[in-house]
Amino acid sequence: MKIITLPNPILKKKSNPIDKVDNKIKKLMDEMLNTMYKAPGIGLAAPQIGINKRLIVMDTSPRPGLKRYQEEKNEKKEEIKPNPIQMANPELTWVSEKKETDEEGCLSIPGIMGDVTRPSSCKVKYLDRNGESKELLAKGLLARCVQHEIDHVNGILFIDRMSKTKKDIILRKIKKQQKEKEQTT
Ligand code: ZN
Repeated sequence: MKIITLPNPILKKKSNPIDKVDNKIKKLMDEMLNTMYKAPGIGLAAPQIGINKRLIVMDTSPRPGLKRYQEEKNEKKEEIKPNPIQMANPELTWVSEKKETDEEGCLSIPGIMGDVTRPSSCKVKYLDRNGESKELLAKGLLARCVQHEIDHVNGILFIDRMSKTKKDIILRKIKKQQKEKEQTT
């Protein structure tokens, strides 16, 4: 599956809820996970592959190709296991008052990184791959990742959470990159 990038308007649309997690949805979730691993990334939302459905997938465990992989591998000195999470209709039911600021990136905004402030922990209600209702308490990187992905199904990008000045600088940079791309192709 191809990951779409800014300024594709699909990324700015609010996605539709899933009625039922049937085989078609399961297949889509699996394909999203494969696309995310291949990118590689730690999270992917359906709008990023051009589908406005409330589906997200994540795996924040360190893997080769990810920035944090080498550091954490050295630290833990043990085999790192994959931890795929697939969610339909994810919804934040609680966010901590405590906030944290950290650098984020997005597969749909390649080459751009920036600091975003978000609640440091959160609870998420969702339907799992079997259509069962579940709740997850997320902390640290997973809390940041799940909030970033839920933003995607609401048509919000991480740069929308930055100050207007910073966002404008980034948008100008993207426009410039695109012009250069058009000129070379
Ligand atoms: Zn993203």
